[in-house]
Amino acid sequence: MARLISFDIDGTLWAGDPPGRITLEMVLRARELGYIIGSASDRPVPVQKGIWEKHGVVMDFTINKHRLDEVKAQFEAETYQHIGDTNMDEMYAVMHGFEYLDVAIHMEEPWMFLDGDEVS
Ligand SMILES: [Mg+2]
Repeated sequence: MARLISFDIDGTLWAGDPPGRITLEMVLRARELGYIIGSASDRPVPVQKGIWEKHGVVMDFTINKHRLDEVKAQFEAETYQHIGDTNMDEMYAVMHGFEYLDVAIHMEEPWMFLDGDEVS
């Protein structure tokens, strides 16, 4: 069964304000690995969609992070993860049955590594 990953934007993705350490390449790698992927941010959904369209990434969902429960209801997956940078990300992830990954410290996901990446 598939694996589902929800990305926070600001402080988490390269395209965020402030930028975070998750690169476009990492998101595309998750896509290649067959994961169900999307963004869950405080930003309005049309703004989220605009970011993905601008970079040519097809996302399975774009939603406000306090509604992650709707993502869980919509997609059947083996694991549900939300990666973000604040305690609000952690709160909503845990509240809605997602595993929370802290972007500042988490480095062990297969999609986070690309050929040639430094692994510290
Ligand atoms: Mg954030």
